[in-house]
Formats: sequence, structure tokens, C-alpha cells
Amino acid sequence: MDPLELLDLDGTLSPEDRDMRAVVRRVVDERVRPHVATWYEEGRVPVRELAAEFGKLGLLGMHLTGYGCAGATATAYGLACLELEAGDSGVRSLVSVQGSLAMFAIHRYGSEEQRQRWLPPMAAGEAIGCFGLTEPDHGSDPAGMATRARRDGGDWVLTGGKMWITNAPVADVAVIWARTDEGVRGFAVPMDTPGVTAREITHKMSLRASSTGEIVLDDVRLPDDARLPGAEGLKAPLSCLTEARYGIVWGALGAARDCLTTALDYAVSREQFGRPIAGFQLTQAKLADMAVELQKGYLLARHLGTLADAGRLRPEQVSVGKLNNVREAIAIARQCRTILGANGISAEYPVMRHANNLESVLTYEGTSEVHQLVIGQKLTGVSAFV
Ligand code: FAD
Repeated sequence: MDPLELLDLDGTLSPEDRDMRAVVRRVVDERVRPHVATWYEEGRVPVRELAAEFGKLGLLGMHLTGYGCAGATATAYGLACLELEAGDSGVRSLVSVQGSLAMFAIHRYGSEEQRQRWLPPMAAGEAIGCFGLTEPDHGSDPAGMATRARRDGGDWVLTGGKMWITNAPVADVAVIWARTDEGVRGFAVPMDTPGVTAREITHKMSLRASSTGEIVLDDVRLPDDARLPGAEGLKAPLSCLTEARYGIVWGALGAARDCLTTALDYAVSREQFGRPIAGFQLTQAKLADMAVELQKGYLLARHLGTLADAGRLRPEQVSVGKLNNVREAIAIARQCRTILGANGISAEYPVMRHANNLESVLTYEGTSEVHQLVIGQKLTGVSAFV
């Protein structure tokens, strides 16, 4: 059975959400599953082809309104993330970065002209976006960023570098966060601007079906209208991260579900000592515990979705979801791997790939430790960051 259906939660979804989920599940089955092991092994992914496909289905910036975006509910967006990540965390990352980071930043903080220029082609998957906050020396603490933007007449000149930026090597536009004399500001930087270079980060052992890059900004001259006028201070990029983290709360469950369904199928067909390993009580205990954790994570995601749709979701609540669901998804992936024995380490099965991917998911969009500190601050009223 579908381990996410242990508690009959499907019945509480709207028919529209169920239909949308079926569409995403089908596109993952047809366009991702048959190829993803090869993409992963070769460390490359056809970002543009996938973006065009996802754009046709309205999955890019799907929770945004206007400018060609679908205007879906937060719950529908979450379900889409879950199905995409059941294919691969890298594929879900492509959609998260495009919609929740790059498009959201332009939608929320951009000028009308910037929205008109970038959002319709990004929603269609014709233009790829990325989001540059992390730097080589500044990850969990972006307040220390060294990338500078200085005014020069009517222009801005950007100098610095961003590291670990999803989609950067294939992007048409980067939302770049930089320090100015007035504080942190965001810029929509066309990647073909002189002085901008992006290189692929190779030798990754995780999220290999995702393009990750370094961006170098060498005296990049931009007109004033490249600045996102509504973005003032670090709270602007942090609000984008909250959006993307929300998708991860759901997405991680997809990777975990795929591992658990694989382990279930394997356990009933694999025989040792003359009987299916599913018949051993130790195997059933593992499967039962994992199904329980998956259900708990799903209930949490559904609750956060309800809060988001009511406009009441707070950042520390998203931290609860990201911390729990990614942590449990990794635990599930590792446990499923044991059920597959030696086959668990083979790319013939998705389990090890998901387990490796989830190591990135644990780190990006705020590490587990950062989310513990966010929750700790809410509980105690004392910030551990300063
Ligand atoms: P560090 O900040 O150096 O942390 C190292 C360790 O120290 C961690 O365990 C951390 O939790 C711990 N630590 C740090 N501070 C504290 C503290 N105060 N208390 C306790 N522990 C602490 N970034 C982008 O901007 N855009 C992207 O598109 C993007 N995509 C990514 C894709 C991948 C595959 C990966 C791996 C990363 C990506 N990132 C991206 C970067 C990611 O957001 C950072 O890696 C993350 O924020 C952590 O920063 P760091 O790697 O510098 O680790």
C-alpha cells in the first residue's frame, strides 16, 4: 500500500489537489524516473528540458499569482514538491529555486517592470533563475556577506562571489544579494552581463541530478533598475528562504515515501531462510516505525499548508517542519537501505540516491542546527545567534 495512506488522509484533500498531484506524479513517472539514475551517475540534468515541461504544467512559481503563474494553494504547491522529490531531490530543487527563491524574490520585491520582464518567461520555463545568497566564507551567517554593490553615478557596480548556487551554471538571471552603504539589497542580474561568470561545481557526492555553481561578480555594472526596489535588509532574502523551506517540508516526505515503497516491495519479494524478509518481525518493526514517522511528517506538512493558506504561517513553524521532516526522511532512507541489503547501495534502486540527496537537503535552506536555534529562540526568548 501507499505508506502515506495509512491514516486515510487522501480523503481530506480537495479533488483539485488530488488531480494536480496525479498530474505531477505522472510527469515524474514519465520524464524523471526512467532517466534519473543516469543523470545522477553522470552528474548532469537537462534543466532546460525539464523546466519547459514543468512550465507547461504550471509548476514554476505555482503558488504565485499573475504574470503567468498558477496561483495555486500552498497545499497544492506542497503536494507538487512531494511528488517531484519522490523522483529526485535535485529535480525538486530546480523547481524550488526557480519558483520559491528567484521568482518569489522578483514577485515580492521587484518593480512592475522587473516582474513583467522576468516572471512570464520564468513561469513558462523559458528563462531559468537562481538565487545567490551563500558565499564561500558566509553560509549560515549571511549577515557577514562580502559581496558589495557600490553606486557609480546612476549605476551599481557589484563585486564578489556566490557559492553553492543551484541552477547558476544554466541560469538566465540571478537574484544576487549584496551589501551596500544602505544595507543589504537584492539585484536581478542577467547572467550575460559583462563580468558575471558561473562555473559548475563538480565532484558532488549528493544532489548530482542538479546543477550547482559558483558565481563570480567582477565589477559587474548594472543600471539602477536592476535593483529590487522593495528589498531592504537581510529580512528580504530570509523571507524567500522561508518560502523555499516550506516546499522542503513536503519534498523530503516524497524522497522518504519513495524509499519506503521501494523497501516494502523489496521486503515482500526478497526471500531469505525460505520466506520473504517482510515476514520477519524485525523487518516489520522497521517498516511500521518508518510508516508512522512518514505519517507524522505528512500531518505536520498538511498542518503547515493549512496555516500558509490561511496566511498565518510563521518562520519558526516552517523551521519545525524542515527540521523534523528532513531529519526523519534521512533516517527512513538509511533504514530502507538496510532492508535492501547489498542492493541498497546500487543505483538500480533509488534508496541510496535519495539518502545521499537528503544530506544536501539537510544543509541547504538553513542547516538542522540553524533550525534548532530558530525554534530554541522562539521557546526561550534568547537568541543563540548573537
Ligand atoms: P556553515 O555555515 O559553515 O556551517 C557548518 C556547520 O556549522 C553546520 O553544521 C552548521 O549548522 C554549523 N553552524 C553554523 N553556525 C552555527 C551556529 N550559530 N550554531 C550551531 N551550529 C552552527 N545557497 C544559496 O544561496 N543558493 C542556492 O541555490 C544554494 N543551493 C545549494 C545547493 C546545494 C547542493 C548545497 C549543498 C548548498 C546550497 N546552498 C545554496 C548553500 C547552503 O544554503 C549553505 O551550504 C548552508 O546555508 C550552510 O552554509 P555552509 O555550507 O557555509 O555551512
